[in-house]
Amino acid sequence: MERIKILDKSFVPFISKEEISSRIAEVGAMINKDYEGKQVLLIAILNGSFVFAADLFRTLTIDAAISFVKLASYKGTTSTGNVITAIGMEERLNDRHIIIVEDIIDTGKTLSAFMPEIYQRDPASVKIATFLSKPDALQYKDIKADYVAFEIENKFVVGYGLDYDGYGRNIPSLMVLE
Ligand code: 5GP
Ligand code: MG
Repeated sequence: MERIKILDKSFVPFISKEEISSRIAEVGAMINKDYEGKQVLLIAILNGSFVFAADLFRTLTIDAAISFVKLASYKGTTSTGNVITAIGMEERLNDRHIIIVEDIIDTGKTLSAFMPEIYQRDPASVKIATFLSKPDALQYKDIKADYVAFEIENKFVVGYGLDYDGYGRNIPSLMVLE
């Protein structure tokens, strides 16, 4: 794929769909091995992770269920400022093996706010799978992904579910801001 324009910005090819697909097969194989004989529940965080979640889910051969949550942040009155509400968390989590599925861990702020919601529901175990992580951007050091498809530099990327102002999610490969 050549250079493309989304709204006012230009993006160039970064990770091809072939590389993405073979790497996701590897991540799926690790999960199949780690959870052999167990049942897992994937909780994918909308909107960005839906493409990755769909592909990762289909590499799983273990008993796997999936559910989607949408996070909305608003200014709260707590000392930390931001409060996150999870919309669609109807699933029972107690004694279940949970894998949180994210598109990208940047500063770690989103997951840092969301993970307590998960822990308070008494899961048997919790791990994090992310399509991308930007180690140089991480500020919330309590957040550590267990499965990372690609570690990338601190640059803005789109495609494969990730958007620029709502667009670009449908690009099958990953593109980086020129
Ligand atoms: P956090 O900083 O909380 O770890 O990440 C917050 C959110 O920022 C991510 O879920 C994602 O929606 C967005 N984000 C961070 N880096 C990028 C990027 O390079 N490209 C796109 N499209 N979104 C990003
Ligand atoms: Mg996101």
